[in-house]
Amino acid sequence: MTTLTSLYREMPPDTTDEFLEMITELEGRRKSQRLAEKKNQPVCTHFCGDVIAAEGISGHPGYRKRAPLRREGHHALQLADEVESRISLGKCGLSSQQNVAYKTWKTWRKDNSADSLLQRLDRDDGRNVTEPEMRKLINVLSGLLFPTTSIDDKMKVDFEWQDWSETPQRIATYYHGNKGGPLISMCCFNQVGDEGYDNLGIVASGRIATILNGLVHAYLDCYACRCKGVLGSFEEDVEQLAGHGRAWQRIAGSIERWSPRILGYPLDIHRFDSIVLNWYDWKHWPSRREVESWQLDYYATTEFDESDSDDEKGGEGEGGGESEEM
Ligand SMILES: [Zn+2]
Ligand SMILES: [Zn+2]
Repeated sequence: MTTLTSLYREMPPDTTDEFLEMITELEGRRKSQRLAEKKNQPVCTHFCGDVIAAEGISGHPGYRKRAPLRREGHHALQLADEVESRISLGKCGLSSQQNVAYKTWKTWRKDNSADSLLQRLDRDDGRNVTEPEMRKLINVLSGLLFPTTSIDDKMKVDFEWQDWSETPQRIATYYHGNKGGPLISMCCFNQVGDEGYDNLGIVASGRIATILNGLVHAYLDCYACRCKGVLGSFEEDVEQLAGHGRAWQRIAGSIERWSPRILGYPLDIHRFDSIVLNWYDWKHWPSRREVESWQLDYYATTEFDESDSDDEKGGEGEGGGESEEM
């Protein structure tokens, strides 16, 4: 009998619609074959199944702070939920730490001089931005996306430029913590930008998107529980598709929707490409509902303009968030 997994071995989808059709068909077959439901799978016993996202509004009854982040201490999908619920608050939900990062980002963004960070990041040779500057950029993006408090375990992502001009398809690599990372290595020449925006050039846009892609890997690498053979295992939610499993897809999707409002630019993190490029790595197929929730065609089908930015809507100097730690 043909296994479900082997059905699509030969043919990665060309479009997001085609992918969704495949998943829908697969789900139909799965149901008709009455395959063992996941209900019978054991659950993780590492005490990491608790909800970690904050709940309610600070100062109001029923408010609960976000649980402290522990190294390898949370289920990947719980981490994704946490990011999604925080990101959905937009600029008003920024903590004091995030506001500091946001101000730095805004300074870079509004700097229209020929030598500004974003202009230099757009040059053919990425090394026009030094490695310490790149680390600072990563730090600011990480502080905006994944803020921590004094009681959280911290994640610190390193960066290095590489000259991979001999291998044009090689753009960037993320190294795991146990391999001397977390470290994002990026080629100083090869890039995959598709579209520039306002004062953000195509190359700079591609490089920032590449950093965000790597930061999602680092976040999951740092905080996701390594549980095996259980419901919501590390393999299924994180590791498969070369690290672009369910949790990565959910978080990267949240970030793409967040990016125009906070960063002021839409950024394509290449979520569908991550699926197609690693097509033969599927071990656990997602459900149709799951794939629909990823909104893989978000970047391709959404029209962006300046007024999408919270900045333009809220005006200058609006403090936004609470001063309490998240
Ligand atoms: Zn676990
Ligand atoms: Zn990636």
